[in-house]
Amino acid sequence: TEDILLKSEKVSLIGELAAGIAHEIRNPLTSIGGLVQLIDELNPEKNAFFKEIILTEINRINFIVSELMVLAKPHAVYFSWFNIIESTRNVIELLQPEVNLRNVAIVFETDDEVIEVYGEKNQLTQVMINLLKNAIEALSSGGYIKLSVAKDGKNVLLTIQDNGIGMTDEQVKKLGEPFFTTKSNGTGLGLMICFKIIQNHKGTVQVESEQEKGTTFTITLPTRPQIAGQPESSEAGLSITS
Ligand code: ADP
Ligand code: MG
Repeated sequence: TEDILLKSEKVSLIGELAAGIAHEIRNPLTSIGGLVQLIDELNPEKNAFFKEIILTEINRINFIVSELMVLAKPHAVYFSWFNIIESTRNVIELLQPEVNLRNVAIVFETDDEVIEVYGEKNQLTQVMINLLKNAIEALSSGGYIKLSVAKDGKNVLLTIQDNGIGMTDEQVKKLGEPFFTTKSNGTGLGLMICFKIIQNHKGTVQVESEQEKGTTFTITLPTRPQIAGQPESSEAGLSITS
């Protein structure tokens, strides 16, 4: 039946995630362990170098764990009405230092000053942060990001478009898989978390991407999702156009 199918899908996702976490955390731990065993033989000259590697590896583990905390829901999850235009402006402001550093321009397009959405404000803010960060990271100097928020009947459409490096079809298919990353310092957890949050809001995510041209993420979010008694939906999910 449908229930059993959903359950087994969940179990395999958890298994996949657990295997990924184990792998990602074991690598830095192995390297820390190896260095600690050498500690007695170290001369002071090499000390600083080894210490830096150890700290880098610890930071990496910390980073992975803090990304995962979003899924672990350490804080209570509160759905409430909030103005998503205001939240979007706050996210842009938050990322402004990173934007300036990379010489990227963000253009925010909206016809409204207020669009009320019933949702988990912190989580939806996290989605915008993750998508915008990816857009910034996809751009080299001189790139632009176009962000738009618009009402469409009972839905809100959020689009994030960049003219960055884009993706191959193979890469697009892997989006949302835990630990899929093409970045040397990426975790590959950002999009998995985004998709999960959007799914919990009964929304959908669309991706359009072309190499060297850029990428557009479109999120469709019901302004008032039907969530009572059923935290997850099997209809919501990711659809891909490329
Ligand atoms: P991370 O950013 O840590 O790599 P994500 O889950 O946020 O993890 O993204 C996974 C991968 O998806 C990225 O490494 C990148 O290859 C690809 N990606 C995501 N967003 C974009 C984008 N806007 N442009 C190009 N590639 C992207
Ligand atoms: Mg990311």
